[in-house]
Amino acid sequence: MHTYHTPLDLVRERSPERPVAFVRPDALAVAARWFRTSFTGDVFYAVKANPSPWAIRELAANGVSSFDVASTAEIELVSAHAPGSRMAFMHPVKSRAAIASAYSDHGVRTFALDSHAELAKILAATGGARDLNLIVRLAVEAPGAAYALNGKFGISPYEAPELLRATRQATSELMGVSFHVGSQCMRPSAYQAAMAQASRALVRAAVFADVVDVGGGFPSVYPGMAPPDLAEYVAAIDRGFSEMMVHETTELWCEPGRALVAEGTSLLTRVELRKGDALYLNDGAYGSLFDAAHSKWPFPVKLVRADGGSSAPLKPFQFYGPTCDSIDQMPGPFWLPDDIAEGDHIEIGMLGAYGVAMATRFNGFGDVETVRANDAPMASMFGLAPRSIPTPRQDSGSVIKLTRARGKKRRRR
Ligand SMILES: *Cc1c(COP(=O)(O)O)cnc(C)c1O
Repeated sequence: MHTYHTPLDLVRERSPERPVAFVRPDALAVAARWFRTSFTGDVFYAVKANPSPWAIRELAANGVSSFDVASTAEIELVSAHAPGSRMAFMHPVKSRAAIASAYSDHGVRTFALDSHAELAKILAATGGARDLNLIVRLAVEAPGAAYALNGKFGISPYEAPELLRATRQATSELMGVSFHVGSQCMRPSAYQAAMAQASRALVRAAVFADVVDVGGGFPSVYPGMAPPDLAEYVAAIDRGFSEMMVHETTELWCEPGRALVAEGTSLLTRVELRKGDALYLNDGAYGSLFDAAHSKWPFPVKLVRADGGSSAPLKPFQFYGPTCDSIDQMPGPFWLPDDIAEGDHIEIGMLGAYGVAMATRFNGFGDVETVRANDAPMASMFGLAPRSIPTPRQDSGSVIKLTRARGKKRRRR
């Protein structure tokens, strides 16, 4: 992979026609080491956040060598780039062929489920194996995440006891519970609340869990979305764990995706046309900017101009992507110098998680060059000195509205 010290160096050398992804493996190394030393348990990287081979290798090399995978392709990817590492197949709905191949060809022993039917499927597809670690995914109510992840998967803690007992009886190895508080969780207390719900389900089932897997959801920092320090999340999880009825050897696991990789990639995109406050770029909703379009996610932006930049005042812009689909627009607002024009390049930061991983080739676009940068990421949760980017006060339109289940929707007892 070619290395440029900074995106500006690349723009000075050759004004790139295609979008360029700048990867910063060091940012992943720092994040991986933080989780390894701060989280009091096993850390599984959720591969879907960024399945790039360099990311898998960098995390494995820095102590995160367990992987949360959801498909046969992800299993093959991890086998190829982090051979010998431990994998947990955490998708609660898997094909029989995928289960069989994971078990027999790749040595996967850990499987998630949220139904009796999936439990039966896992047992059948592994030939009645007794050496499985079976993790029951619970749907918890955990306010405070920008993206809810309890809508599709997970059995409600009220229905779970029978499934927990059946799962307990199905294996001689580990039986565990998992949940996902939602991605970009802004409240550390959400984990503790989720663990309390898991604990009540276990008590009602009268079984002990060997594994408590608190899932992903650890946040990164985006414009207008500054979460509490990650240490507060670990502290809340430790408190939650100490309040659970578990036995002495119960293992604590987590599955961060975003927090490990978000800082590690930015995208250099080019302005193909300006129409007033609308900038037409060569990447968009079908490229790496899916979340900017569909979730109005506030990514940091910075003008990268060969002659060194602009002293024009900042003003809010919206972006349009290159495809002909009218949903290919990103409302932002993205604050950039008022004199920005066709041919200028914009670096968009924090696209290492659910950014480059989402790109498609729709309409003939999406061909992205990948190079390495040595400079610091545009923002950091891990004490890396972030580069100075202009950060004007954002109006509330750019900030994701957090789900506020509390107050609005009190659970009846
Ligand atoms: C997506 C996902 C994760 C990672 O979530 P982040 O919010 O990126 O940390 C972890 N576990 C499961 C089961 C997931 O589906």
